[in-house]
Amino acid sequence: MLPAAEAAFTRVVAAAEIKERVAELGAAISDDYRDSEPILVAVLVGALPFLADLARQLTIATKIDFLSISRFGEGGRIRIILDVADNLLGKDVVVVEDIVDTGLSLTVLRRMLLDRGANSVATVALLDKTKRRLVDVPLEYRGFEVGDEYLIGYGLDFEGNFRNLPALWAVLDADFASRDPAGSARYLYQHR
Ligand code: 5GP
Repeated sequence: MLPAAEAAFTRVVAAAEIKERVAELGAAISDDYRDSEPILVAVLVGALPFLADLARQLTIATKIDFLSISRFGEGGRIRIILDVADNLLGKDVVVVEDIVDTGLSLTVLRRMLLDRGANSVATVALLDKTKRRLVDVPLEYRGFEVGDEYLIGYGLDFEGNFRNLPALWAVLDADFASRDPAGSARYLYQHR
């Protein structure tokens, strides 16, 4: 089982590297928002570990809220599954995203938050798949630029699994990951 698992995944970013980069992002955001009290709006579920680590690197007053969306259809149509609890009128919003891929979700989300009267909207994404972008969307803070492999870990899932891995991995053999999630998890947790 192990040789198959070994061939099915490759580590892309180690946990220690993520930690270091998240601290840098936290310092940059704290500096830029030193005269403001931003509200972090994290996009569930994928942004959860990133939000938890990033928020604890901020040295400014900040609120935390969540939303959950799903994309449907061809273009950038999104359905809101869980909405923010706070009133965003006049607020400086920092959207916390796991990964920006085509940019379609973020484009719609930014427009929605501005329509609700936010004073400003900026985005921090841990990962940026620049080469796959279909729409040009502002991305003020990003952790790492990555290629177009399918990634798991640190919030990112494959068929609902692997979000709790501390490092980021690329899936090289999706059939294996799908067929044997338990074997995959054993390998991935052993090699974190
Ligand atoms: P887009 O920018 O295309 O609208 O969508 C971004 C969303 O697609 C992310 O929030 C994430 O849910 C999903 N996504 C994009 N690339 C990956 C990936 O490599 N792995 C996982 N697990 N999700 C991805």
